[in-house]
Amino acid sequence: MDACARDVDREAKTLTELDAAIGDADHGENLRRGFKAVTAALAEEPPATPGAVLTLAGRTLISSVGGASGPLYGTLLRRAGKQLGDASSTDLPGLRDALAAGVDGVARLGGAVAGDKTMLDALLPAVDALDGGLQAAATAARQGAVDTVPLLARKGRASYLGERSVGHQDPGAASSALLVAALLEAAGD
Ligand code: ADP
Ligand code: MG
Ligand code: MG
Repeated sequence: MDACARDVDREAKTLTELDAAIGDADHGENLRRGFKAVTAALAEEPPATPGAVLTLAGRTLISSVGGASGPLYGTLLRRAGKQLGDASSTDLPGLRDALAAGVDGVARLGGAVAGDKTMLDALLPAVDALDGGLQAAATAARQGAVDTVPLLARKGRASYLGERSVGHQDPGAASSALLVAALLEAAGD
């Protein structure tokens, strides 16, 4: 979560610029506020297990981010945390199951499918690639984000633009690639 907060802080301006093109120019700031709250919540009452860390982080994102990405990422982390249960550590298959459960939660909550030009277009390829290792998942997420550029947005604010959403990278897919890279970097340590 510290790595996520650090990278979100570093890339907030870029994420907001992407959101300015096809949304309402707040994605970077939404996530910066959210992950700042996550860092504070974890410092205040450090959870004992990885699952509890993700659950608290998810709950905090839901309560601190007003935009669509707050409930979506919050649900991802809560579901992933629940999947990890109260184990004191996890391994690559465990991480894969946790990420898969979280991404499934995002799909259920938001009703989007692959190709709708949302965060799922980075998250789904990451889940699929994770059996091949941490680096493979991060690379797949990044490629998935880049591949949203030619897509027409079918969910969220960008969908209001119709054809004018084509030619821009989805901000949520870009932040998902960033978060997957940060999570997997930390998990690989
Ligand atoms: P808002 O659009 O409310 O301002 P953000 O700018 O923080 O929220 O987040 C926008 C991102 O949320 C989009 O780029 C997209 O990836 C993601 N998103 C929006 N709606 C959905 C949805 N229904 N399913 C999955 N992801 C979504
Ligand atoms: Mg926005
Ligand atoms: Mg907004």
